[in-house]
Order: sequence, then C-alpha cells, then structure tokens
Amino acid sequence: MKKALKKITLLLFIIIMAMLIFQFIVSNQVEDSPLPTKLHPTVAEAKDKLISQTKANGITIIITDGFRSIAEQDALFEQGRTTDGNIVTNVRGGDSYHNYGLAIDFALQLEDGSVIWDLEYDGNDNGKADWMEVVEIAKKLGFTWGGDWDNFRDYPHLQMDFDLSIRALKRGKRPDENTN
Ligand SMILES: [Zn+2]
Repeated sequence: MKKALKKITLLLFIIIMAMLIFQFIVSNQVEDSPLPTKLHPTVAEAKDKLISQTKANGITIIITDGFRSIAEQDALFEQGRTTDGNIVTNVRGGDSYHNYGLAIDFALQLEDGSVIWDLEYDGNDNGKADWMEVVEIAKKLGFTWGGDWDNFRDYPHLQMDFDLSIRALKRGKRPDENTN
C-alpha cells in the first residue's frame, strides 16, 4: 500500500514536471515572423496625421527617424560610446520599437529650413511650447511619448506598442497589420 502510494506520488510528480516543461517551451517559443522593413501602417497613418494636424496649428515638424533596422540600431547605440556624437539611445538592435516599425522621432523645422530640438520654442506664438503641442496631438493620435519615461527621457520619440513588449516582439509576436 505504501509502495503504491509512493509510485502514484512519483508519477504525479513526473506528470507535473512534464507539464511545466511543456508550458515553458511553449511560452518561450520563437515565432517564425519576419522583421518588418517599414513603419506599421497604423503608425504611418498616424505620422501623416501628426504632420498635417501640427501644420494646421502653425507648427512644422519633420520626422527624423522611423523604421530602423537592427544594424542601424546597433550603429546608433555606438554613437557617443565608441563613435563620435552624443548618446541618443540606450538600447541595442532588436530592443527598440523603431526596429519593429512602431516608433518615429520628430523635430521642429523653422521657416529657414533649420531643424531644432528646442522644447521651449514657441514659433506659433500662442504661449505654449510647440514641442509640447506636438506631443499633445501625438498622444491624441495614440502615440506614447518617450519624454514620459523615467529612466531615459527620449523627447523626440513617439511610439505605439499595441500592448506588445519588446520581449514579445523579439519572440516574433507582431501587431495585426489591420490594428487600429
Ligand atoms: Zn525614437
């Protein structure tokens, strides 16, 4: 009787372990989804709206960056570390929403064509910083703003994550192409 109980306990243990291992494998499975090569259509559409809606408010913006390949991201990571320039990112290739076509960076453009990253500039002279007006419109369009982050404030950065973490994206999860 005791022996039988031991056997059952052992069997149960093996079954539970097998289930746990199976679950672990399934949850870590990498889906065979190709990396995007351009902006997600929803992000691209919101980007166009952002340009036209800010324009209607007397603010000209330019999109300085959108989709970024893994190699481009790696090169950008080296900027300010092993190559010249300021540090502009703290993430390597694959760790940025830009790498999945889900982020854009903007800057303000003046009438003479020059591009500025001035958070206080008030070109349309309405008492509000143009930069923050752009951010406000972007948020209404569904973007989250890098300036709201705690660790590395990325003021030109706007992204849509579609509730997908970088971890999930790395594993091959992708937002639906028709997601709105
Ligand atoms: Zn960015």
